[in-house]
Amino acid sequence: MILFSDFDGTLTKEGCQLTREFFDIIDHAKNNNQELIIVSGRSLSWGHFFLTHFPFKACIMEGGGVICYLDSRGEIVEEPLVSPAELERLKKFTIDLQQQYPHVPLSVDSFGRLSDRAIEFHLMDESWIDLVMDFMRKEDINFSKSNVHINFWCGNISKYLGVKHFLEKYRPDLKHEDCWFFGDAPNDESMFELFHNSVGVSNIKHCLHKLKYKPRIILEGAENAGSSGVLNFIRKLSLAQEF
Ligand SMILES: [Mg+2]
Repeated sequence: MILFSDFDGTLTKEGCQLTREFFDIIDHAKNNNQELIIVSGRSLSWGHFFLTHFPFKACIMEGGGVICYLDSRGEIVEEPLVSPAELERLKKFTIDLQQQYPHVPLSVDSFGRLSDRAIEFHLMDESWIDLVMDFMRKEDINFSKSNVHINFWCGNISKYLGVKHFLEKYRPDLKHEDCWFFGDAPNDESMFELFHNSVGVSNIKHCLHKLKYKPRIILEGAENAGSSGVLNFIRKLSLAQEF
């Protein structure tokens, strides 16, 4: 069984805080022969960090734009899920954007990104944001706006496409129905729409109204926020399987 999970707000608590439950989830998965795979909007460089410092074999990063995994020698391999031409187009567009709008601040983690880039739009005037989004539309660049960033990319990228590709290529014996996904926010929506076993941790309640597609199971109560919710759920799942 694979436990796919978003990272921020799902395997953390109160925003970005790592708690002991995160390590309990890792231990629980290991002791129950489950694989934990992070599926996050964070950059590829974060994927390297996860693979280097935690007992993970693979991560799906940049919202599904790139998979990174350890090969049989333990070396990190990166597999972008968009074509080299799309990556090149993104590079060129980013240069054009910076020339055209020199005051637009790229996110500090953009240097560690491969398949997308981000803009710190909360540092920008409202009028600049509209100009930049119009420029992206005109240049046929995909983008999404979160609380702090405008992420932009070329090609077809989603968390669901990343997970689907990973299962088909790397774990072909596993059925989707034998896996679970945990999330907390609109950038998990492709998984809520298309992946059967989806769970929202209880802090998802703050953005449920923004979601067209909701998780199949929505946890409730402060005790099921973020990493606590994931841990409680997988403990129950293991108990249910014992009977
Ligand atoms: Mg999240």
